[in-house]
Amino acid sequence: MSDVFFADLKTTHEMNLFKKLERLLYKIDLISIIEKDDLVAIKLHFGERGNTSYVQPIYLRKIVDRIKEFGGKPFLTDTNTLYVGSRGDAVSHLKTAIENGFAYSVVNAPLIIADGLRGRSFKMVRIDKKWYKEVDIAEEIYNADALIAVTHFKCHELSGIGGTIKNLGMGCASIQGKLNQHSTVSPYVDQERCTGCGRGQKWCGYKAIVIEDKKERIIPDICVGCGECIHICPTGAIRIRWDASTMSVQEKMAEHTIGALQNKGGKYAFITFITQISPACDCYPSNDIPIVRDVGILASRDPIAIDQASADLVNNQIGNRDSNLTCNYESGEDKFRGVYPHIDWTIQLSYGESLGLGSRGYKLIKI
Ligand code: SF4
Repeated sequence: MSDVFFADLKTTHEMNLFKKLERLLYKIDLISIIEKDDLVAIKLHFGERGNTSYVQPIYLRKIVDRIKEFGGKPFLTDTNTLYVGSRGDAVSHLKTAIENGFAYSVVNAPLIIADGLRGRSFKMVRIDKKWYKEVDIAEEIYNADALIAVTHFKCHELSGIGGTIKNLGMGCASIQGKLNQHSTVSPYVDQERCTGCGRGQKWCGYKAIVIEDKKERIIPDICVGCGECIHICPTGAIRIRWDASTMSVQEKMAEHTIGALQNKGGKYAFITFITQISPACDCYPSNDIPIVRDVGILASRDPIAIDQASADLVNNQIGNRDSNLTCNYESGEDKFRGVYPHIDWTIQLSYGESLGLGSRGYKLIKI
């Protein structure tokens, strides 16, 4: 059983959310993992342009200031994306991050794109697991002395949940590492549902979607399996073979998480914001109505426990009937299956637990 500390969103003038966040950092004993002059990577998602559900910069400022008080040298970091969008290279990525509010004057720390200008700066980390002997981890995450993952918890179109394992496993991988994880995702177009609107073709950064006879078609030899066209299709015509694809992506993410944490000697911690729980990743240029109300902030030293606790807290809420939820509205019912019925999101947690990443058993300690 691992400790997971939980702050709900109820506040007073004396105990506002910043104070609660500080208490969470105290509870996970952040001071014990930061040594003087440590380069501390704070891994987050800066949000795609047009998306507003990512963790707001003012919270990052609090975490940065606390790490500095302990003598650390923090920087905010993420890696480049596989798909076309506003974060596919370091220049575009930094520009988007600053436009989304992550300016130095706000967050009090530099921004570094961890896998370089075009996502090709990485270190091979030996892990010797089922899918990989070695994984490609973004160089500046590998080079950091300590790693703090700050995660926006939400649904995800490939892994069911987008939590700490997603933030670390996929988010700390270089472009090649991301390609490796997506290699078994092969979307196809359901020709009966396709209206030939061309949105998928326009969105695909690899030009893997063509229009033939007024229908979209995916060319398998060109498609890298990034999965970004799935959510963009307005009629749900772009699909993947759920069982094989989602299982392997989740297991591969868990193995890459090992690679991201391996050389840190236990100098890592995880903070999760269960707010604006959107039905898809922050990689899209919009975020739809949250599936449940905002829940709170969690902190832990166990990446599996914090994801399990986050999912349980979301599932205990009443579902929002105006959202993308199609069923499972009652408290205790699986909200992630209510959005993505075919995805068993627990695979990343059970496989991660079997690898020794952490424990699905946890003690929720409310502060
Ligand atoms: S067709 Fe393939 S490469 Fe293009 S967006 Fe879809 S999954 Fe990504």
